[in-house]
Amino acid sequence: MSERAAPFYCPYCGDEDLRPSEEGTSHGKGAGWECASCNRAFRLSFLGLLAKGLRREPAGEGGTSI
Ligand SMILES: [Zn+2]
Repeated sequence: MSERAAPFYCPYCGDEDLRPSEEGTSHGKGAGWECASCNRAFRLSFLGLLAKGLRREPAGEGGTSI
């Protein structure tokens, strides 16, 4: 289980040029990220586990194929 979640794409413009943001990281509520394309700063935060439990994503994009 990894505590940090790194986004691959900007949720706003879909660009991949993301870099860690200094803002918001001192609160410990998720890492801040900045999009160099649309100049937006956002934060990823873990909300909690779903009631239905963990589900494995079907093999496809983003999946680890061994
Ligand atoms: Zn963006």
